[in-house]
Amino acid sequence: MSTREIIDRLVRPEIRALSAYHVPPAAGLIKLDAMENPWSWPAELQAEWLQVLQAAALNRYPDPTAAELQSVLRTAMEVPDQMIVQTVAEPGRVIMAPEPTFVMYRQIATVCGLAFSGMPLDDDFSLDRERMLTVIGEQQPAVTFLAYPNNPTGNLFDANVIREMLAVADGLVVVDEAYAPFTDASFMSSLGEYDNLLVMRTVSKLGLAGLRLGMLAGSPAWLEQIDKTRLPYNIGTLNQLTGSFALRHKALFDEQARAIRAEREILAAGLGEFAGLAVYPSEANFILFRAPAGRADALYAGLQSAGILIKNLHGSADALHDCLRVTVGLPDENRAFLDALARLL
Ligand SMILES: *Cc1c(COP(=O)(O)O)cnc(C)c1O
Repeated sequence: MSTREIIDRLVRPEIRALSAYHVPPAAGLIKLDAMENPWSWPAELQAEWLQVLQAAALNRYPDPTAAELQSVLRTAMEVPDQMIVQTVAEPGRVIMAPEPTFVMYRQIATVCGLAFSGMPLDDDFSLDRERMLTVIGEQQPAVTFLAYPNNPTGNLFDANVIREMLAVADGLVVVDEAYAPFTDASFMSSLGEYDNLLVMRTVSKLGLAGLRLGMLAGSPAWLEQIDKTRLPYNIGTLNQLTGSFALRHKALFDEQARAIRAEREILAAGLGEFAGLAVYPSEANFILFRAPAGRADALYAGLQSAGILIKNLHGSADALHDCLRVTVGLPDENRAFLDALARLL
């Protein structure tokens, strides 16, 4: 039997139909495509970090519970004291999310063999309240995912509608706060009010995208169950040490996040100057904008020729026709982007 035939027999059709998350090469380009923090660490902090790593016992398994890192995360992410935190495991059961949103919810649901139901957002990318409440009431999805702020649109959903959803949902409502560093809004302090609320965070957008480290906060009873799906020693020693070290210096990352928020406003104002672009409000570290009809692909290609990589969303979903997404970079990078765009428009 050929490999192809064996794959067709063993791999579920839904998985065969998925494509892997594609990341375009970025060498030599101004990188404004992936919501990374553009600032690096001061030299003395880098030196101190290397000293921490020097002492790492890499011949040993990591701390199985990452206790030290958990405690630093709890403080850094302002998780309420009575809540027990942590697991980077996927919550495991994805069923419903408004769309367009983070594509991994659908991907993970499919990989886990669950049905995924994407609920269209309104034209301004706000939650369709009636539809969400009706679908939750009738279908009672096991899990509803809400990116808050949403990616790739950048907006915050109405917190009152989310509270209504929490009240009518039997299943879990997972509020994904990947962009928490760039907004004042959060459901972290509401964890005690709802048994079915989980809050996800990542350190990626804060400035540690290379670590691959995230966390989940919620009721101890739920975390106890979800923790069983976590693979042993899933957070390596270097990640534990680096995460703990970096988050003890959280003031630096907070300062960088403030700078990114300030730059976001400058970038939004710059984009707003171009007639013909629709610029969507953002509470994240990126901005979604809509190009004049039919021009997104050419603008994306033109920017790439000018050495600037952003994200082209045209063609990814009907609601995102002619849309492009730019990550907030360093002031010089943002200016280079606006200058290049001015030449292309
Ligand atoms: C980036 C992002 C994440 C998580 O990113 P990781 O780097 O995999 O931690 C989660 N949710 C949303 C909405 C995101 O945009």
